[in-house]
Amino acid sequence: MTIALESMTLGILGGGQLGRMSAMAAARLGIKTIIFSPEERSPAFHVAHESILADYDDKEALKRFKEKVDVISYEFENIPVETVLYLEEIGAKVFPDERLLYVSQDRIKEKQFLNDLGIETARWKKMESTEDLLQAGFQDFIIKTTRFGYDGKGQISSSLDECNTCEKLKSFFETHKNNDLILEEKVAFTDEMSVIIARNKQGESAIYGPMLNIHKNHILYKTIYPNSFSKDVIEKAHEIAQKIADEIKLIGVLTVEFFICEDGRILANELAPRTHNSGHWTIDACAVSQFEQHVRAVCGLPLGSSEAHSDAEMLNLIGNDVKDINNYMKQDNACVHLYGKKEAREGRKMGHVTFLQEKS
Ligand code: AMP
Repeated sequence: MTIALESMTLGILGGGQLGRMSAMAAARLGIKTIIFSPEERSPAFHVAHESILADYDDKEALKRFKEKVDVISYEFENIPVETVLYLEEIGAKVFPDERLLYVSQDRIKEKQFLNDLGIETARWKKMESTEDLLQAGFQDFIIKTTRFGYDGKGQISSSLDECNTCEKLKSFFETHKNNDLILEEKVAFTDEMSVIIARNKQGESAIYGPMLNIHKNHILYKTIYPNSFSKDVIEKAHEIAQKIADEIKLIGVLTVEFFICEDGRILANELAPRTHNSGHWTIDACAVSQFEQHVRAVCGLPLGSSEAHSDAEMLNLIGNDVKDINNYMKQDNACVHLYGKKEAREGRKMGHVTFLQEKS
């Protein structure tokens, strides 16, 4: 890239906390950010050089956006693929390109993509009728909507024994009768983990993790790095993330979430073509955070080290948890981050705290 750093402008589609933290990382490198979001109260607006408040299908606004920036990225996977295709059509450089977005927006496409690369997932089946429950024969299962599910929304778990009597299941089918569904075998995992990989145009990559992730009510509660995963598990997780990144010639950041089974097998669960909540600790515990790697990768810059200089535990502040903020502020090893959201609604990620310890 020939543009001088000080005059570079990065456009980000989406205005949530991930966009906010990428914009803050960009500012540290002297790169300006323009946020494009349809949400008036976007947390990323507060820290950006400029903001465009418009819908993702507003072509005039997208044109204006394209004219103002050197390169475009996005901060969450539910940006319409058509928006990215339109921006590319009018000459914008968008990273990561739409392929990963397309795959990660649909759980069936995502599982098929992983399995085609030889990456093991939970056993699954497209769910077209209740007959599929018997045919698949999974004793315990989870049914999920294929699109727009996050933090456990749009999913239900049940078992073959109760599938004819379960009222919750009946009402789930009723609510989602117009949605595509996927049936997954429920995995008896010992742990959940994630790996974050950044890769740039030159093919350099940097990997964080695997991180140990602990969920409460399907929402990430705590992330711990380092942890006691075996050398085999670590190598396998890195190998899978690298394989996906190289296969799609990733430019940007990709997160892979996994289940670890009792027998040591690791199953990929989800892909996110972006930075991830399980990587927030990298802001305080690494010289170069996941957000800075994101900015560097999409702006054509060299990547930095993903080495941690401290051990870290990240705690999400969800809903009313944010009320404990004063206590955290008094702790010597606590790095407090708030996203500037007004209402502490139930399940809403308001901020996070990273507790640092000396590197073990
Ligand atoms: P997801 O939306 O697929 O990330 O699922 C949210 C959470 O539900 C995961 O973090 C797991 O704790 C749980 N979960 C999802 N799919 C499965 C599965 N096939 N087996 C067991 N637990 C699952």
